[in-house]
Amino acid sequence: MFIPFNKPPVTGNELLFINEAIQSPQLSGNGPFSKKCEAWFENHLKSERALLTPSCTHSLEMAAILADIQPGDEVIMPSYTFVSTANAFVLRGATIVFVDIRPDTMNIDETLIEDAITPKTKAIVVVHYGGVGCEMDSIMSIAQKHNLFVIEDAAQALGCTYNGKLLGSFGTFSAYSFHETKNCSSGGEGGLLAVNDKRFVERADIIREKGTNRANFFKGLVDKYTWVDIGSSYLPSELQSAYLWAQLQMEESIRNKRLETWNVYYNSLSVLKEKGVQLPEIPNHTRHNAHIFYLKLKNIEERTRFIQFLAKKDIMAVFHYVPLHSSPAGKLHGRFHGNDQWTTVESERLVRLPLYYNMENTETERVIDAVLEFFA
Ligand SMILES: *Cc1c(COP(=O)(O)O)cnc(C)c1O
Repeated sequence: MFIPFNKPPVTGNELLFINEAIQSPQLSGNGPFSKKCEAWFENHLKSERALLTPSCTHSLEMAAILADIQPGDEVIMPSYTFVSTANAFVLRGATIVFVDIRPDTMNIDETLIEDAITPKTKAIVVVHYGGVGCEMDSIMSIAQKHNLFVIEDAAQALGCTYNGKLLGSFGTFSAYSFHETKNCSSGGEGGLLAVNDKRFVERADIIREKGTNRANFFKGLVDKYTWVDIGSSYLPSELQSAYLWAQLQMEESIRNKRLETWNVYYNSLSVLKEKGVQLPEIPNHTRHNAHIFYLKLKNIEERTRFIQFLAKKDIMAVFHYVPLHSSPAGKLHGRFHGNDQWTTVESERLVRLPLYYNMENTETERVIDAVLEFFA
């Protein structure tokens, strides 16, 4: 039996809620299920406003517009991330300034940020890799000192905390993903933008509604709606929201079930530390959501052999990001500030093991046996 890297989570009530949405008079965005999901996030994060979007990519694009990123502005972020983290800002004409990551968490090295700031810097974008929080205390104070936006790419970080506070509630804006590879999905694709500063709430609604003040029209604040700003159609359908609503009700169970599997991996594979294999490090002041379980091997050659070895046993292990600064578009639109001490070498060593909601114990054991056999 083939063990895939991921299986999209299905918790049981998705069809029930989708049926309910189909029976209701509104299938377009901003309907009853969308409102329930948004209220869930607003309550959890204590956000001023949470807006569902078609993807985390779209949420980041909205954040770039709201932060008023202009051609020539600079945005600081790690190079070890998904393309959308950078693309959203490049679309507005920004230059991306990549800084190195920390080898322990694979997150941006907060001690290198300040040196990368120039008069053109507008924002720091942090990525909580695998749902493990970046060092938000120092990052927030650097941003405050230099009057910069902090934008959280919290795509992987649903239900995670830093010093007891939920990731996604620190930055002025934060972006979540409900892609099928994430812990909670909205039927394959989906996202959310959390707006944590009142001053941006009204414009966020306008940008999501094609640049119109339609949201105010529905609230009865204006008697007709018109084109007032740039914008796009950043609304998901009620079918996606209905699916997501089923998953949000189970968010804690999904997280705990994944954590069980993660802990079994961690405990069973800790013996490999003697052989130079590195396991994920979770700082004490962070709570993660078991989004990813990875190993770091000797180098890219060993990793290739490892992935092939598992594939022969019908187990799918995968590597992750190729650093953006080494990609064609990354070279064109960005620059790496300082030394690439860790980004490239660590990304070449990292491999992710299969991990999904309701992974069977027998599957986890098969993966563990195969991994141990490779290193025997
Ligand atoms: C998944 C992911 C995204 C993109 O999410 P989509 O919903 O597919 O647009 C962006 N950033 C990070 C860090 C991700 O893991």
